[in-house]
Amino acid sequence: MLLIQNGRVLDPFTGVDAPRDVLIGDDGVIVRVEEHIDAPADCKTLDARGLTVSPGFVDGHVHFRDPGQTEKEDVHTGAAAAAAGGYATVICMANTIPTCDTPETIRYVTEKAADAPVQVLQAGAVTRGLKGQEMTDFAALRAAGAPCLTDDGINLTSAALCRTAMCEAVKHDMLLSFHEEEPSLVPSPGVNFGSAAAEHFGVPGAMGCAETAMVARDIALALDTGARVLFQHISCGQSVALIRAGKAMGAKVFAEATPHHLSLTEDDVIAHGTLARMNPPLREESDRLALIDGLLDGTIDMIATDHAPHTAEEKARAFGKAPSGITGLETAFSVCNTYLVRTGKLTKMQLIEKMSKSPAEIYRLPAHAVAPGGFARLVLLDWDGEKVYKEYKSKSNNTPYTNMPLFGTPRAIVTGVRIMEN
Ligand SMILES: [Zn+2]
Repeated sequence: MLLIQNGRVLDPFTGVDAPRDVLIGDDGVIVRVEEHIDAPADCKTLDARGLTVSPGFVDGHVHFRDPGQTEKEDVHTGAAAAAAGGYATVICMANTIPTCDTPETIRYVTEKAADAPVQVLQAGAVTRGLKGQEMTDFAALRAAGAPCLTDDGINLTSAALCRTAMCEAVKHDMLLSFHEEEPSLVPSPGVNFGSAAAEHFGVPGAMGCAETAMVARDIALALDTGARVLFQHISCGQSVALIRAGKAMGAKVFAEATPHHLSLTEDDVIAHGTLARMNPPLREESDRLALIDGLLDGTIDMIATDHAPHTAEEKARAFGKAPSGITGLETAFSVCNTYLVRTGKLTKMQLIEKMSKSPAEIYRLPAHAVAPGGFARLVLLDWDGEKVYKEYKSKSNNTPYTNMPLFGTPRAIVTGVRIMEN
């Protein structure tokens, strides 16, 4: 047994925000959550004084590069990075090599991750090889454990195919998750079109309407088909307005925002160079503020990192030639706490909701509450201490947050009775 003592439970599932001890049985299931619990004989204890005990985070959007690009990351280092970041569950995107478009590839990942400290789920592709032409076998991918289907990294450009995929997803009760950037409106990826940073690096950039046009189209298709559709890593204020309107019209649409789109803007790209190059790109301050408003009114359902490891060699290339994407699992909580909670934009409870409860519910993952009867998937959080990141569990360190003064850290995750301390 494990008794977590002296902590403050902060749990959006139950609404509890109060001092509570948490007792976990040998089978990993939470037995009691009460103001004071005396440690039973032979019970291991964990002191959580000064910390909150919260549902472990759920990241619906990570790239572990396994199979195929394990020089950047693999399932084990990715899971270690997730554990360090306070995550209980992560969902890997399907743009591996080979693509996760068969049950075999999905099982390769989940079986390799079976003993990981966090739950690693593997998304399936919508189209074979992410080519946007031939649909995968949705039923087989679902049976293999895919919690959603996505061609992340690539836009589903054909509206007809997208609509057919939505009809198929409805038939199999699958969530679709879309990277929304119309390629013809992205003269060059990774930086906002026409921004000072784009000019500085001598590239045209990616238009905001590449995203808004696809979001608008897919809200229309979601309304037509009744499909559940998640818009990944939203970057534009106008997308937030469209999604708000789509939800009001009854579309079953959901949205993610990343810690970087919530904390940085296109003006930060000049200083950070390729470490701030990502798709979709950082945009203007008004977009960042609109994303935060979207979090507050429920238009943006969840915070997802889009953890995208690349080697130092790749990120050392000229801006126009480097790959897009940054790592994010280890810094996500500190970044969000610093930029959203300490600035008074979100309460602690709202942040935990966006990082655990909402994604767990949208992906229909059971057992993430700090409540009796569920398997323990918890995070112990320090909200106040200063934190400067210098090294990482990830194989890659392509993040602009290194050496930045941030506040708050995940101190440990608890999975069943297993403790992983930072
Ligand atoms: Zn993406």
